Amino acid sequence: MEDLFIASRMKSGDWTWTVTTRLLLFLEELEDLFGPRCVKYLYGGVEFADDGPYVWYPFGKYVVVRLSSPCVNEPARALFQLAHESVHLIAPLGSREGVTVLEEALASWFQLKIVAEHSQLFAEDWKVLPPRYASAAALITPLLCENPQAIKRIRVRQPNFHDISMELLKEEFVNAPDEVLRQLTSPFSVWAEGQQ
Ligand SMILES: [Zn+2]
Repeated sequence: MEDLFIASRMKSGDWTWTVTTRLLLFLEELEDLFGPRCVKYLYGGVEFADDGPYVWYPFGKYVVVRLSSPCVNEPARALFQLAHESVHLIAPLGSREGVTVLEEALASWFQLKIVAEHSQLFAEDWKVLPPRYASAAALITPLLCENPQAIKRIRVRQPNFHDISMELLKEEFVNAPDEVLRQLTSPFSVWAEGQQ
């Protein structure tokens, strides 16, 4: 896999992707899938920390993606985490509190999509998410299969994942059980405790 930290010019004259530009590539794809990004928080770039991955909000006005430190030596790990965190840039909440199951489900679903598309880069044990994220992805996957444009349409009316109601979900995911839709609108931190 290409170096994700040092851009180099290819024979074609184009430059290779780095974590910064690869994330922008993900955002382009995500806007196609889930609608335009909310721009309340300006995207400030990617950095690394021992307690990553997550997004955080410098000065309360920017959003920065923080990946875990081992990613510096493991490009596949960086790509894996970057795919997930990029979804948290679509409608940043401004805090880690209150992120819904829906948002984590979409982030986990997109992460699995990227793994499937770059399958040769990932060892088998990398293709499995931690149980609570795998469970979140399992809630949304059949719904998106049936109605791939649903989230994009819902976000025209309510762009913030956090404020998407069960009623709005029901209008697009007409065949989904209420219990699934109720779980999707729950705070992830509370819901995840019941998944362990
Ligand atoms: Zn997440």
